[in-house]
Amino acid sequence: MITAVAGGGYSGFVCACLLLDAGIRVRIFERQEKVLKKLMISGNGRCNISNEDIKLSDYICKDKERLAVILDAFSREKEMAFFKAAGIETFSEDGRIYPFSGKASSVYDALRAYVLERGGEIITDTCINGIAPVSSGFVLTGDASETVYDKVMICCGGCAGIYDEENKGGVPDIINRTHAFKYEKTRPALTRIYCKNIYGTDMKKAEGTRIKGKVYLLSDGKEIYSEYGEIQFIKGGLSGIPVFNCSLYLDDTKNTELFIDLIPDMDFSYIEDRAKRFGKRQFETFFYGLFTEAVAGIILSASGIPVHKKVEDATEDELLLLYNNLKSFKFKELRTDTFKNSQLSVGGIALCELSDELEIPDMKGIYIAGEALAVSGKCGGYNLHFAAASAAYIAGAVIKNA
Ligand SMILES: Cc1cc2nc3c(=O)[nH]c(=O)nc-3n(C[C@H](O)[C@H](O)[C@H](O)COP(=O)(O)OP(=O)(O)OC[C@H]3O[C@@H](n4cnc5c(N)ncnc54)[C@H](O)[C@@H]3O)c2cc1C
Repeated sequence: MITAVAGGGYSGFVCACLLLDAGIRVRIFERQEKVLKKLMISGNGRCNISNEDIKLSDYICKDKERLAVILDAFSREKEMAFFKAAGIETFSEDGRIYPFSGKASSVYDALRAYVLERGGEIITDTCINGIAPVSSGFVLTGDASETVYDKVMICCGGCAGIYDEENKGGVPDIINRTHAFKYEKTRPALTRIYCKNIYGTDMKKAEGTRIKGKVYLLSDGKEIYSEYGEIQFIKGGLSGIPVFNCSLYLDDTKNTELFIDLIPDMDFSYIEDRAKRFGKRQFETFFYGLFTEAVAGIILSASGIPVHKKVEDATEDELLLLYNNLKSFKFKELRTDTFKNSQLSVGGIALCELSDELEIPDMKGIYIAGEALAVSGKCGGYNLHFAAASAAYIAGAVIKNA
């Protein structure tokens, strides 16, 4: 029995390792000159490989029941056993799991060695453009060997991080030429968000500044996501983990807006009290000790309060406006960065298009795993975890039926 794995990313390698362990011959095809390229750039080269606390709510997926089955089948114990078998030691930082070395390259080395030591074949610079069923299995367009494969594992990922155009990702190519799938439109996510503040305030001086705050994303006025954390003002927009996670929900067909609560733990009485304590100051220095000058400047400008005005001369309405803008500094015209500058493509093949074993229903023997599927996790190791969990799931199905 020989199985082809189309895509030499993390899901392809996990799948190959498990199949090889079960004594199944495996050949991995990778379109690029090197395998595991995305894994190598993950977590800024540190590779946040998983998370101690994997919950369904950390993922966007239209079929949470089936996602639960896939995640449950790859428990923390099973994931750790896999790491151990591959020699990958890990450590955890605030629940985020990293390789012991702190380097993605050790995961690359360990997985590559795992496959090669068990006789797996790795063919690079080979793009699989289609899968044709023949009487005894499948032949792959792009595979010069013209081997007939018993099973094909599609682990082609998405185009985030590497390609700029959607169709440069493997999944649309391979699936469109193979099967008429209903495919959830892909879009870049886990990326900075370009936006404009609604006040017309010049943000240049604040560029590069990091603040702690709570980001809220609204769609048609309704909150769809919020998260507290470090937010960075960048040229033309916002960055930081809470912003990246908001971008998961940023569908351009929806009327979305975003606001930041810069003082999540404070209410109006705090501003009133501060105004009493520092009434003799001008507003220019009112925020000393709370915000940097650049952040204070944009809040004052957005509130139309002159910097040289004395705090004790401010009206209740002015203080209220200042407070409201601190609680809800609003941004409009939100858009994500390109696929190349993002960490994830949201969308892909919906789980409901596949069998319970993630097999193409009318092309038995072809399975799909990883980012190619319409399952999108937050920042924090959730996407590599899903890539591994879904890969283990399809490997398990093949092993069970072998
Ligand atoms: C900059 C960046 C940082 C990230 N950091 C993290 C992190 O720290 N933690 C985390 O959990 N997630 C992170 N992610 C997301 C995570 O890396 C991906 O979700 C994960 O790698 C998906 O694995 P995959 O195997 O499904 O796809 P991929 O890693 O994309 O692998 C698919 C492979 O298939 C190849 N391929 C595609 N089409 C074909 C074809 N037709 N024929 C042959 N080969 C083909 C591709 O070249 C690619 O090598 C990050 C992503 C990026 C871009």
